[in-house]
Amino acid sequence: MSYHTEKLYDTDSELFAFDATVLSCEAHDKGGYAVVLDRTAFFPESGGQYADRGTQNDVAVIDVRIKDDCITHLTEQPLAVGSTVHGVLDAELRLAKMQCHTGEHIISGIAHKHYGYENVGFHLGNGEMTMDLDGELTPEQIASLEREANEVVWQNVIVRAEYPDAETLKNLNYRSKLDLSDGVRIVTVEGVDACACCAPHVKRTGEIGVIKIVDAIRYKGGMRLWVLCGRWALEDYNTKHNNILAITRKHSVKPWQVVEIADKIGDDLMATKAALSAARRELADAKIAAVTPDEKGNLLFFEDEMDGNIQRGMADGGADHCTGICGVFSATDSGYRYVCVSRGIALREIGKNMNAKLNGRGGGTDAIIQGTLGATREQIEAFFAQI
Ligand SMILES: [Zn+2]
Repeated sequence: MSYHTEKLYDTDSELFAFDATVLSCEAHDKGGYAVVLDRTAFFPESGGQYADRGTQNDVAVIDVRIKDDCITHLTEQPLAVGSTVHGVLDAELRLAKMQCHTGEHIISGIAHKHYGYENVGFHLGNGEMTMDLDGELTPEQIASLEREANEVVWQNVIVRAEYPDAETLKNLNYRSKLDLSDGVRIVTVEGVDACACCAPHVKRTGEIGVIKIVDAIRYKGGMRLWVLCGRWALEDYNTKHNNILAITRKHSVKPWQVVEIADKIGDDLMATKAALSAARRELADAKIAAVTPDEKGNLLFFEDEMDGNIQRGMADGGADHCTGICGVFSATDSGYRYVCVSRGIALREIGKNMNAKLNGRGGGTDAIIQGTLGATREQIEAFFAQI
């Protein structure tokens, strides 16, 4: 049996509580109960917008779907067929969505007016909204679009939803033009936009508070915009502002100096790294100068984990101070990372042998070999003693 549910949100988008009669209630195959009421203020998932949340007689409504004209609420507990239930929406969530959704109409309307673009994609989830336009925008055009959209908010213009008769509809210029002649719901932002849409919107644009385009990328030949309005825009502002304060307070500068301080931290880090590298090189040179090669003419250094460039530099420098091989071994979790350099001894074959005997990987030329070894210091020293 299919029902026709009266859509209370259609005529009053700010009706957040209502009474209704339960027409049917069945266990849902994916858990919960599918409840149909004679009327509802719950907006179902449709057109890229998530469904409303709330309660019916204190039973949680976890999803709302529409098929044909029948709206089904998915509830956590069953509701008695024939009984009257009191439905209460999560008004905060609904208002946040209406702020975003109406903001989307305004941006789309302006983009359509100035550039002839169509809105070809829309997603309104929890705390996030994306909208896709079928043409590209420069950063300057995006900034100007945002400014103009906010001016519409400040003008506090009326937002209307109506079902025009067939004749009116035929002559009406609106976005998302449908081939239908009746039953088309037109949402008008006075003086800015008219669009076919079934969702609830705020009643005046002032309720949106603010429209902020937070990100934009080129997408499928057009643009994808991330837009936040009202409550979610404020939450986003708070998060970003608190992040900025956390950084700038730590460095005793003003919030607007965040980029300056981030650049300075980056520069300081680079300088510190350069100084550290220089000091490590000096240390490596000092170590090389302080030791004498073993009886084979080899110089072997076993180091805590060290930078690869320093390691190569040390092996290279050490090779000038010995007649054999200079090997520098940097400790890893499972053994050592090695670099061996020699001015007189061909290393390629030695490297292959070493890898085979000491559970190693790597290779190189006769002048330099590098890789890893799964062996202890004693095993490595023993290998070099027998070359
Ligand atoms: Zn809409």
